[in-house]
Amino acid sequence: MAFPVTRLRRLRRTAELRNLVCETRLTPDAFVYPMFVCPGEGVRKPVRSMPGVFNLSVDEAVKEAQQVRSLGVPSVILFGLPDKKDEVATGAWADDGIVQRAARAMKREVPGLTLMGDVCLCEYMSHGHCGIVKSTFTPQSLGAAVRDSLAPSQRILAVKSKEEKEKAIQTMVSAAARAAESNYEIDNDASLGLLARTSVSLAKAGIDIIAPSDMMDGRVAAIRRALDQANFINTPILSYAAKFASGFYGPFREAADSAPQFGDRRSYQMDGANVREAMREIELDIEEGADMIMVKPALPYLDVIAAARDRFDLPLAAYQVSGEYAMIEAAAQNGWIERDRVIMESLLSIRRAGAGIILTYFAKEAARLLA
Ligand SMILES: [Zn+2]
Repeated sequence: MAFPVTRLRRLRRTAELRNLVCETRLTPDAFVYPMFVCPGEGVRKPVRSMPGVFNLSVDEAVKEAQQVRSLGVPSVILFGLPDKKDEVATGAWADDGIVQRAARAMKREVPGLTLMGDVCLCEYMSHGHCGIVKSTFTPQSLGAAVRDSLAPSQRILAVKSKEEKEKAIQTMVSAAARAAESNYEIDNDASLGLLARTSVSLAKAGIDIIAPSDMMDGRVAAIRRALDQANFINTPILSYAAKFASGFYGPFREAADSAPQFGDRRSYQMDGANVREAMREIELDIEEGADMIMVKPALPYLDVIAAARDRFDLPLAAYQVSGEYAMIEAAAQNGWIERDRVIMESLLSIRRAGAGIILTYFAKEAARLLA
């Protein structure tokens, strides 16, 4: 039956009617608030590109977590900024690592708050990649690459002075560094042990949900095995199953100080063009033992969220990432959009696409708006 018998506007006439027929509802129960924990005491360092977001020392993070809980947000996800970084991500799996310390304090001071621990190595590696970096050079091929990168005039090694000698050595060193930076790979299988070790260490410290975000193949199985062996059979895994290599992560890299020092993450994170491959990623993570799955970022990948919701029955999370947050904040600061309205509309869209759990820097704000 069409117009004039059918008039869809009938149910839009009043706020009460609109509320009655509302298909998608947001509650703070769906939110997870991401936090960045750093060394020190009394530290509350603003993240420049994310107004309202801070690097917090453990004591300040506990206060913030109490506030999050009191607003009705049930969960936080913790990221760490370690004292120092190295080539084996010691800060990620050390018993006194920054996230481990924050987790212990929060478990003690904020009972009832569910703690998620992001599991990745990039924040703790000196090179900023999510796994162990392996050079693909043999000594011979490195030598050849250095020689090929030098201009013919630079290859003449007859030097007349100490200065010239120093200069020639410097030229070689930087040529070798440049060559090395474009000839490396992230060693998938070697990284699994560190990811598993990190997960067990976080569970020991009181983290309730282990959330691997590194995108190495096979990491969910490796983590599940390690957790079970350490007797954490009831600790669930929320897998960042479909994590895309995205420009929207920009502000996070400032917040977590985790930008790769060379190259990018396209050899392990997903290509934004591929939705079928995202389904395969999710399927494999479920086979490996994931209890919950995640799509990241959220707003530019709503179709992936919808496809995942359609196809899989596990609890589904989406991460509204730093760039999504920063865009809304920046436009609002310029008076170009209505901040509160756009925050809620963006979260509603993610929920409508099918995400039951939303990781968002707006968690506190949205909980206030919903109260
Ligand atoms: Zn990472």
